[in-house]
Amino acid sequence: MQNYQHILLAADYSEHCDTVARKAKSLAHLYQAKLSLIHVLDNIPIPDTGYGTVIQLDKDYDNELLEAEKNKFIRLCHRLDIDPARQWLVWGVPKQEIVKIAAQEQVDLIVAGAHGWHGLALLLLGSTTDSILHHSPCDVIAIRLQDDMPASKT
Ligand code: AMP
Repeated sequence: MQNYQHILLAADYSEHCDTVARKAKSLAHLYQAKLSLIHVLDNIPIPDTGYGTVIQLDKDYDNELLEAEKNKFIRLCHRLDIDPARQWLVWGVPKQEIVKIAAQEQVDLIVAGAHGWHGLALLLLGSTTDSILHHSPCDVIAIRLQDDMPASKT
């Protein structure tokens, strides 16, 4: 099997984010692969901005909420030592934007967390990773998250 060369970490800032990030970092180290990071902004309104817009990290925005999200993202990238060319903060629907950036950047492995929901929980709450699995252009590793897992710092 050929080694993975470009890994995309999907980070959602949940209490489990650090667990997923640590796995992605170790995989990148193991395969000597490039590591990209994506966070999709779906929790704040950004007027006059279309879904799929990449937020420029070197620009100051008038929107206070967006500035706060941008700075949080920059801090996470810094903590995980992500190359500036591989930092993706995108406005949109997570499952769509993650797959889109993976295809665009020729990623060969996506790393995301999975709660293991099934049945009604899956139907009602949906699962980003489940959808990524169905639409991804490349391999996907789902890191099993347990809801009683101790929270870790992000
Ligand atoms: P969920 O299905 O919302 O519990 O999310 C499962 C996994 O999808 C998370 O552990 C992340 O890896 C990824 N994910 C969810 N939301 C986002 C987001 N807004 N940006 C990037 N990745 C996300």
